[in-house]
Amino acid sequence: MNINGNYSNLQDSYLFKTIAQRVNAYKEANPGANLIRLGIGDVTRPLAPAVIAAMQKAVAELGDGATFRGYDDGGVGYDFLRDAIVNYYAARGVQVGADEIVVSDGAKSDLGNLLGIFEAGSTALIPDPVFPAYADTNVIDGNRIVYIDANEANGFLPAPDGVVKADIIYICSPNNPTGAVYTREKLKAWVDYANAVGAVILFDAAYEAFITDPGLPRSIFEIDGARTCAIEVCSLSKLAGFTGVRAGYTIVPAELERGGRSLLALWKRRQTTKFNGVSYITQRGAAAVFSPEGLAQCRESVAYYLENAKILGEALKSLGIWYCGGENAPYIWLKCPDGRGSWEYFDYLLGELKLVGTPGAGFGKNGEGFMRLTAFGTRENTVEAVERLKK
Ligand code: PLP
Repeated sequence: MNINGNYSNLQDSYLFKTIAQRVNAYKEANPGANLIRLGIGDVTRPLAPAVIAAMQKAVAELGDGATFRGYDDGGVGYDFLRDAIVNYYAARGVQVGADEIVVSDGAKSDLGNLLGIFEAGSTALIPDPVFPAYADTNVIDGNRIVYIDANEANGFLPAPDGVVKADIIYICSPNNPTGAVYTREKLKAWVDYANAVGAVILFDAAYEAFITDPGLPRSIFEIDGARTCAIEVCSLSKLAGFTGVRAGYTIVPAELERGGRSLLALWKRRQTTKFNGVSYITQRGAAAVFSPEGLAQCRESVAYYLENAKILGEALKSLGIWYCGGENAPYIWLKCPDGRGSWEYFDYLLGELKLVGTPGAGFGKNGEGFMRLTAFGTRENTVEAVERLKK
């Protein structure tokens, strides 16, 4: 028996482990310290009342023989949820078919599992700095990874100029960790490029709900030509606080084919073979997110986080610290002052200000010298963090 040797090629989850070690050591040495965590990528606001009501109703239905449900027939998501997602897109002028939507337990699973429909050994083009799961899932599948530089010079939004030809291209907008958001023109360049070389874009729209500027695209399907080259992966984690509930969906356009095969058909085949669908209770809660009442409630939480981001951004501006993101994204990507390295600045923030950020170096080589702050904390902590920074 041989194990999948690719696992030996994975780098240890050095970033969050190292942060935890340093924070724990600090806490041991300073037991009473009031630490503020601006490094967390998890949400803190509770689920919307409309979601809770829908899930409670679903629980009651399952407890009654007359309304009980077992397997989600087909395992790709109930019609009531897929229709709600269709309407969510239609409300901003994007046409997607309910049949093109496959509901899942979240974007992370889909991002990893989608690789299974591509040939092992494919080449993946991944921006650096990056959400670590993109690289790790490609390592596990034995793919070849080519990094593309996202840096201050290109506003952390690399363009397809002169890139190595790849089979799979990752685009995350709004971006984790940089908070940078692609414009329509910049996204169109990638769509045209992917169509020209036959690559498939995996568009991670996990943070689309944070885009409030109507000039910026929230879906790659707002771009002409995307239906023949892109798959969109989306999540309810940040839109609706579903990080613990778990729900997401992936949209594969019916026109998207490679090697004469429909990628939608392959994805559905993969999901219905290896996955038996998302719980009825969760899907009812997810559908409630897209109801007018649910959306209004979820948008209140998104607005709350965006206000936190604004407070952080304004403080950095007043301190003359360069940053991007934070306007249509929950992440602020700042340049460590005085030319400090990411970990050096991390230690300074922890030791002197009792603030915990996420060192940019942990997201890739272009992250060195940067720090990620998140807006997912409470208002009180965000305001307190700003006061400490200003002092
Ligand atoms: N994609 C990006 C860019 C993320 O930052 C995250 C989570 O932080 C995910 C996907 C995972 O989302 P989910 O909770 O739906 O698995």
